[in-house]
Parts: sequence; structure tokens; C-alpha cells
Amino acid sequence: MHDLSCVVHLHSVHSDGTGTVEEIARAAKGIDVVLLTDHDTMAAEPGWYGDVLVLVGEEVSPKGSNHYLAFGLDSPIDHTGMDAADIVRAVREAGGFGFAAHPFSKGSERFRQAPMPWTDLSCVDGIEVWSFVSDIAERIDSIPQALRFLARPEHLAADPPEENLREWDRLNAERRVVGIGGVDAHQFGRRILGRRVVRLMGYRRTFRQLRTHVLVNELPSRDLDHDRAQVYDALRDGRCYIAVDHLARPAGFAFWEEDGDVHARVPQPADIRLLRDGVEVARTAGAELDHAAAGAGAYRVEVRLGGRVWILSNPVRLT
Ligand SMILES: [Zn+2]
Ligand SMILES: [Zn+2]
Repeated sequence: MHDLSCVVHLHSVHSDGTGTVEEIARAAKGIDVVLLTDHDTMAAEPGWYGDVLVLVGEEVSPKGSNHYLAFGLDSPIDHTGMDAADIVRAVREAGGFGFAAHPFSKGSERFRQAPMPWTDLSCVDGIEVWSFVSDIAERIDSIPQALRFLARPEHLAADPPEENLREWDRLNAERRVVGIGGVDAHQFGRRILGRRVVRLMGYRRTFRQLRTHVLVNELPSRDLDHDRAQVYDALRDGRCYIAVDHLARPAGFAFWEEDGDVHARVPQPADIRLLRDGVEVARTAGAELDHAAAGAGAYRVEVRLGGRVWILSNPVRLT
């Protein structure tokens, strides 16, 4: 299988982002795939922009809650009057699939940002378990802290909120719920008369923080339909993992089940924890973890480098 690095969940000038699709693709140099999700529109043009494949999904964005990152649609969903389950169903009926966006959002009192959570996760089969911008924005509660974040984003961005992971484990104990890491990049700043005058947290910096890697069967061929299908099939099937690429290159990471045993491989020695239904069952310092006769449950691994989360696998289910 081939490992493609993706940035997922971002906004362009087609909704409330400040960058054009061309600018975003340039900022994504070195990344394989950009999955755009403008609010309630699919106006951006998918395709190859240089060496970057840009795919166009939609962030279905009802006011206040239940934002849904939907892919594989031909046109945006009219979500008027829809609740969480209606949105998931409408996307599925249109041939698409999706992920609950910032599902555990609590908002920020300091910055008067209202929470935008999911009201009911029992209907979803995918979530943005780590939402870079929302998770950080909600941790920042003072202006000095905000400035420190802008100077050194990686300090505050260290790990996904523990409660997100617990909630994800709870969901996976019952059924498979694929997890992705989303950046929710808008590029902080303002465009005035078409010129950007402020640019504090640019797309390029955000893209370094958090990526979702997909494992595809065939390498991209520069045929849009073929390449899009490869990426979407991997995301639907949960053949993907979340990584903080700037800590170290994660490509080569693998986690699988074989005859009731589970195995993890990482491209360099690290702290590997194996969890079963959210509870640690094995841990090793090294590049390999093998766990025999693991027993029924949802297994996933968390890999840390220097104490920081580097890689989060998706769960493997044993019955
Ligand atoms: Zn949103
Ligand atoms: Zn968003």
C-alpha cells in the first residue's frame, strides 16, 4: 500500500477562508492531497494543482451545531431543517460519506465563540477526532496565550484533547467509527480590497501541524476520477491514520490484525501504546509492537515521540 499525506478540512475564499485554491495548493507543497471543505458550497475546482491533488468536499454547516465534512457528493446538501441523523442520511443517499466536524466543540467564553458540537453521534461512522484549530482555540483563554500560540503553534497543539479520544473509544466499542485529523484552516487574517493585510497563522504553518495519511492500493495516476476514488475508498474504509508530520516522517507506519494477533510498525523507535476499548494493554519503546491472541475488542495504537503524540491509528476490530 502507498501512503499519501493529506490535509483535511479547510476553507478557501469560496466560503470564509482567505486563500484562493491556487494559494492553498501552493501552501501545501510537499503534501499529496488537500481535501477542501468550504461551508455549504462545492464551488472550488478539483484537480491537480502542480503536484498537489485538490479534492472538493463540503462542510455541511447548519447554524450552531452538527457540521459535517462530506465527500463524494456531486452537489452540496440542502440542510434546511435537518437534524444530525438527517444530514448523515442525506449525504449517504447522495452516494457520499462524511465525518462529524469538531464534534466535541465546547466553544470559547474568552473569545465569545459559541460551541458547535454534535448533538447525536449515534448516527455517524466517521468523526474529526482531532480538530486542530477548534481544539486549540478552546484551550486558549487569554490574549497573551493567543499571541504565544501564534508565535509557536506547536506548543499548544501538542496533543489531541484526552476527552476526544475517550469519546472516540466509547463509540468504537460499539461499532466502527473512523477518525481523522482536521485542520479547519481558514488562514487567520483579513482580505481587504482583495489584498491580504493580516496573515498571522497561514495555511502553510497550519498544514505542518496535523495531517491524515491515507493508505491507497494504487499510486496517483493524475487521472482525477481514479485518484479521487483511491483516496475516498481509503477514508471510507478507515485505511488512514493521523500524524503530526513535523515531529518526524510517519510514512511506513502500519497497524494490522492477523489471526487474532495485532501488529504495529513505526518508521523509527518511539513509545507505542496499544489500547483495547480505550484501556492500555501493551506498551513498548521501539519500532515494533506485536501482541498475541489479543481477544475481542477495538484496538488502536498511540505513538509518542519525546512525550508528544506523533501518530494515532484507526481502530482494528477483533471479534
Ligand atoms: Zn465547522
Ligand atoms: Zn470548518
